[in-house]
Amino acid sequence: MIPRDFEYHAPKSVPDALGLLRQFGDEAKLLAGGHSLLPMMKMRFAQPGHLIDLGRIPGLKGIREEGGAIRIGAMTTENELIWSKLLQEKCPLLIEGARLISDPQVRYKGTIGGDIAHGDPGNDHPAMMLALGASFVLRSEAGERVVPADGFFVGTYDTLMKPDEIMTEIRIPVPAPGTGYCYAKLKRKVGDFATAAAAVTLQMNGDSVRDVAIALTNAGPTPLKASAAEDSLRGKALTDASIAAAAVLAMSICDPAADQRGDAEYKTAMAGEMTQRALRVARSRAA
Ligand SMILES: Cc1cc2nc3c(=O)[nH]c(=O)nc-3n(C[C@H](O)[C@H](O)[C@H](O)COP(=O)(O)OP(=O)(O)OC[C@H]3O[C@@H](n4cnc5c(N)ncnc54)[C@H](O)[C@@H]3O)c2cc1C
Repeated sequence: MIPRDFEYHAPKSVPDALGLLRQFGDEAKLLAGGHSLLPMMKMRFAQPGHLIDLGRIPGLKGIREEGGAIRIGAMTTENELIWSKLLQEKCPLLIEGARLISDPQVRYKGTIGGDIAHGDPGNDHPAMMLALGASFVLRSEAGERVVPADGFFVGTYDTLMKPDEIMTEIRIPVPAPGTGYCYAKLKRKVGDFATAAAAVTLQMNGDSVRDVAIALTNAGPTPLKASAAEDSLRGKALTDASIAAAAVLAMSICDPAADQRGDAEYKTAMAGEMTQRALRVARSRAA
């Protein structure tokens, strides 16, 4: 299908983009990589009269370490994440997850900020953000606020972000050396969204779990933090039995929508399966 007519704007700075957001209000939409927004416009689920392209604004891209955090510009593409030496060294979970997103065409244009801001529970970055304890920098003409990923996703395609805000940066506390990690994703074929997926970070203290984070993709209307499953593992040995019990707790919070990838029962079972798989792989990688 063909989208409605719209005017295209290419501001050169964040203040200019914020000014356009104020000027056009409900009629405006921010454009990043376009791989979620443009399909929605073609289907007329979104019908903005003004597209504000963030792609010409210097400073919204890049990956660096500062103040104990990895700071990623919101316009950084999946491909740029995949080739980042800093992430390879300090936060390989993001590389593993980004490599599982769609295909090279999508990964060359799609951005981490767009993937998060879109609020799609099928997108992969939100669960990784929960597992990594990330926070998001949101700018408006009134100033800047930093909000934690935990609590940011409030419903399907719905986040805490206000219409006059732009996500400028993602901040991830640098994982402690030796942190185990895994993003386990079940998909029907290359390029598909997850039937279910689990993001895990894991710190061991000898044979017992010092700390663990578990978050699920496409298992409910938002990405889900499996807090009870995490609590069940802290301070305990990571055995097949404790992993299976944690997966049952993770499944108990699932509320997936049935779709062409399966009914709710199957998708919940697969969320449990991905949780077990991610915990096992993370254990093998933890030092
Ligand atoms: C065939 C196909 C398969 C896909 N498979 C997957 C997959 O397996 N996993 C996955 O995670 N994703 C998948 N995607 C989605 C893809 O990763 C998108 O790129 C991503 O969801 C949106 O990022 P974008 O940069 O393209 O944003 P856009 O499509 O440009 O924008 C998406 C939304 O976010 C808003 N937005 C964008 N940037 C900002 C910002 N900085 N601040 C505030 N609001 C902003 C826009 O206004 C819009 O509402 C797939 C897409 C396609 C077409």
